[in-house]
Amino acid sequence: MNNLIQLLPDAIANQIAAGEVVQRPASALKELLENAVDAGATKIQVVLKDAGKQLIQVIDNGRGMSPTDARMSFERHATSKIKESKDLFSIRTFGFRGEALASIAAVAQVELKTKTADEELGTYICIEGSEVKKQEPVAAQNGTSVSMKNLFFNVPARRNFLKSNPVEMRHLVDEFQRVALSYPEIAFTLMQNDMEMYSLLPGKLSQRITGIFGKNYQDKLIPADEETPHLMVKGYIGKPESAKKTRGEQFFFVNNRYIKSSYLHHAVSTAFEGLIQPDQHPFYVLFLEIDPSHIDINVHPTKTEIKFDDERTVYAVIRTCIKQALGAHHVVPSLDFTV
Ligand code: ADP
Ligand code: MG
Repeated sequence: MNNLIQLLPDAIANQIAAGEVVQRPASALKELLENAVDAGATKIQVVLKDAGKQLIQVIDNGRGMSPTDARMSFERHATSKIKESKDLFSIRTFGFRGEALASIAAVAQVELKTKTADEELGTYICIEGSEVKKQEPVAAQNGTSVSMKNLFFNVPARRNFLKSNPVEMRHLVDEFQRVALSYPEIAFTLMQNDMEMYSLLPGKLSQRITGIFGKNYQDKLIPADEETPHLMVKGYIGKPESAKKTRGEQFFFVNNRYIKSSYLHHAVSTAFEGLIQPDQHPFYVLFLEIDPSHIDINVHPTKTEIKFDDERTVYAVIRTCIKQALGAHHVVPSLDFTV
């Protein structure tokens, strides 16, 4: 009998994995930004061309990589962030799957320039469709620059699936805002087609919020804080008058990782009951700190969904926190409002 099964070549395996990790320019940007944060950068610059379809470049001043690490970083399941399976339960970095660079390099033309502080020269690597075209020493700043060009150049079907520039830009800006909000102490810039869209100085969370959403948010923010033995909540909610019918200004971060949760969104919305119209959404930027052993972030490759051991308690704590914040600022349902 003939045996039919064979292992897939790396380039194909990477391309398949890329389907999950890189759906569109924004997902690649998210991965590159997270790598820059994980590298301890204090300054991160993003350069986009053609809504990321031509170019996404992320330049950081983080710890950089040695020549060997630089090459290894493009291997699948190669990571410096976890070593053994128990580490999965105490993840503090964004990354841990070791899939992002391998996936990006499988479906784009990638140029990496990186240098550690204790090396004289840095490393340049050019890789296209998982194939290393060039690796050589190069003069470089400390830190890392990754340029991703012509996303899906070798997967025409996917390239054709990309949406119009405004739509892709919206997704890119969403990802940028999420990372920038969760790290107000890091300076960020974003350029699109040579125009500066954001230039965010390091500062406090409230300054980051106004830097992103505009100065008029300055006196619309109410601080929210709550601490229980297992959970800490802090951040800002918007005064009821800043609620909008459109969504997009609601942010939950768990241990600094942006997450989507309609369940927790509901906890905030109900705390606003009677203060905003039922079809409006309150503004909020809320950070939850929770022992990593009580959550599972390994649910989805893009990691925007997580599982809590005890979702109900988290819900209750958030709701109480928001109610108290509103109460402390004398924002309580008024009779006038309901007529
Ligand atoms: P992960 O982030 O899950 O480890 P990636 O494929 O995103 O996987 O990156 C692989 C490895 O490459 C990382 O673990 C890290 O050691 C290194 N790396 C990637 N980007 C950077 C960067 N900007 N600065 C320093 N090291 C980086
Ligand atoms: Mg990563």
